[in-house]
Amino acid sequence: MLRTAVRCPSCLIAIFSRDRHDFRWCECKTTFVDGGMDYLRFGVESPFKLEDVEILKIEVSEEDLEKQKKTLAQKEDQGTRRRPRKRKKAAE
Ligand SMILES: [Zn+2]
Repeated sequence: MLRTAVRCPSCLIAIFSRDRHDFRWCECKTTFVDGGMDYLRFGVESPFKLEDVEILKIEVSEEDLEKQKKTLAQKEDQGTRRRPRKRKKAAE
């Protein structure tokens, strides 16, 4: 499926959000993305500006999504910051 990704102007890594509550940083923690398929929200740390962030469409398979999820989950376990478990919201 086609996903909207943003490329960090610093580490040049493209990141994307899997779903609405999936907030992600790039490797160097300069750029973040959020919002999944529903909307695109991203930001970047100074000295970069939003205009420096390249927005691109990437083709991602379900498999890749799972892989990325696992990789990031491992990283989070090793990291200092713990994210609270996502809670499922009732249907709107
Ligand atoms: Zn980066």
